[in-house]
Amino acid sequence: MTGPSSSANQYAGSGRRSVAILGATGSIGLSTLDVIQRHPDRFEIFALTASSRVDEMVALCRQHRPKVAVMADAEAAVTLRSRLPADLGVEVLAGREGLVAVAQSAEADTVMAAIVGAAGLEPTLAAVRAGKRVLLANKEALVMSGALFMDAVAQSGAELLPIDSEHNAIFQCLPPALARDMTGAGVRRILLTASGGPFRNTGLSSLAGVTPEQACAHPNWSMGQKISVDSATLMNKGLELIEACWLFNTSPSQIEVHVHPESIIHSMVEYVDGSVLAQLGSPDMRTPIANGLAWPERIDAGVASLDLFALGRFHFERPDLERFPCLRLAAEAFDQGGTSPAVLNAANEVAVAAFLKGRLRFTDIPVIIEEALSALPSTSATDFDVIFDKDRESRAFALERIGRMAV
Ligand code: NDP
Repeated sequence: MTGPSSSANQYAGSGRRSVAILGATGSIGLSTLDVIQRHPDRFEIFALTASSRVDEMVALCRQHRPKVAVMADAEAAVTLRSRLPADLGVEVLAGREGLVAVAQSAEADTVMAAIVGAAGLEPTLAAVRAGKRVLLANKEALVMSGALFMDAVAQSGAELLPIDSEHNAIFQCLPPALARDMTGAGVRRILLTASGGPFRNTGLSSLAGVTPEQACAHPNWSMGQKISVDSATLMNKGLELIEACWLFNTSPSQIEVHVHPESIIHSMVEYVDGSVLAQLGSPDMRTPIANGLAWPERIDAGVASLDLFALGRFHFERPDLERFPCLRLAAEAFDQGGTSPAVLNAANEVAVAAFLKGRLRFTDIPVIIEEALSALPSTSATDFDVIFDKDRESRAFALERIGRMAV
């Protein structure tokens, strides 16, 4: 799926990869820093970004001494500037302009795209357009803008490497030169695995009353709140289905979701000769992050060896689309094409935020998304402005609709 590797180390004078981490204070950002600090000979940190959590950013700047720190929130940037000692030499930038500036800076050759949600699209796109190695964790950016995003990758020659564990697994199971040519590679289908989330065994009647704390208590993975709720509704798998279609140039009909509660097999690729290749590992995001940072080499990620004797067995189930309609809605949005995935994503972000604040029931998340999809029918996604407009429209629709719903 990658473009020509024109970006590889072309900027880093020291011979080390120079990395900008968008979303450094988050779960993926911190795991990325953990891998990077194990390899000071290979990587240097150019920039760290966050939204508003200044205390966390101060600590990261003291520890990792980036050249630039960006706070998306302008007031937070002012506070950060006042709290960083001058001798640390960290330049502080603010807002969307600051995020875009570090993402496209000639001083970075590698950008970890780990901002959560649609807010990540603009800086991730800036990194793509500047031809960087882009490590894509921020699946929402690709889901929203699909073909436009992949066209930008092709035009700039950026190296796009998947960090989502499932997509990284699929990537590892495909011949790299044919990662976007399923027919040429002889692929019959992709088996996309899913943990099933914390409510895998919860009955439909109990789902309406689940709390944000329960939804965020993922059985296997430690993640940010938004993706944790997405995992609980199976919207995460829906977003991943769309992400896989764009990354590997395929369609939902060629992808089958397998619920695999142990989260050890991160996905599989079945070939026409009957071979099934799988990538296995402990559920630890440092593995795909290390894979993306060092690709095509391998580096220590600090991840313990897999103990298959202790695990004993693997289990597989079909996803239950009646209890978890978000997966169906995502597949439908992809089939509708155009602006529908952007509408789906935006309505989901608003609904999840409302659920986390106790303003929406868990089971109303798919209701809001379905209503948004039918109220805002798909139009052709001719450019990124169309996508951003639809994102705003869908947010406004979902907010208004939630406002009229009593919890
Ligand atoms: P977190 O919520 O833990 O972290 C989000 C990061 O984005 C934080 O640094 C946050 O800053 C920053 N951020 C939030 N809002 C904005 C904004 N409006 N503008 C700029 N920055 C912002 O998320 P995760 O690390 O869990 O997830 C990040 C992305 O990676 C998501 O797209 C997710 O789907 C994907 N992903 C995550 C996995 C995981 O294991 N966590 C696995 C696979 C994919 P601040 O701290 O200041 O709020």
